[in-house]
Amino acid sequence: MTGLSPEYDEPSGHWDAAEMNRLRGVAIVQAAETEAVLAQILRILDPSADRTLMAGPLLRAVRKQLDAQTLDRWSQALDVIKEAINRRNRLVHDTVQVGYSWREYATGGGEHVPVISLLGNEDRDEVDIQKDLNLQRRATRDAIEVLHYLRHRKTDPAAARYCEVCIQEQEDDHHASGGG
Ligand SMILES: [Zn+2]
Repeated sequence: MTGLSPEYDEPSGHWDAAEMNRLRGVAIVQAAETEAVLAQILRILDPSADRTLMAGPLLRAVRKQLDAQTLDRWSQALDVIKEAINRRNRLVHDTVQVGYSWREYATGGGEHVPVISLLGNEDRDEVDIQKDLNLQRRATRDAIEVLHYLRHRKTDPAAARYCEVCIQEQEDDHHASGGG
């Protein structure tokens, strides 16, 4: 025996935090995709713009370039992208911590059970981070919609029918429409 009773030997939390950290990683990768699309949007609007900006400044630069009518048309999408950027920054900078409680067995001994998980100092679990990931996915989709709107608005509308990305998205939406 090494003195310390199991009750005081609390788990590191790495095991229980693993799935949250995995989802966090996927969400951050998804956010990078949105950032890349924002850079493409900015290139359409202003070929001389600095496209090495981070997502936040990229979005601000895009907003500045859009006319009032386009801003109005895409205000919801731009808000989703903004919210996703904010969440992404929290996901990057905050760490996952798991808190445990000691549960005694009636037969003697016991075990540590995870009772709370935190991201930074917010009480968040896997379901919450899955929602963050869904938000990132939605932001990427919305950014692509804006990109294609801008790309096709000055060309023959029929051209969009031959745009491989647009066609792909329509198929994806069709497949996803059953899920909700
Ligand atoms: Zn397109």
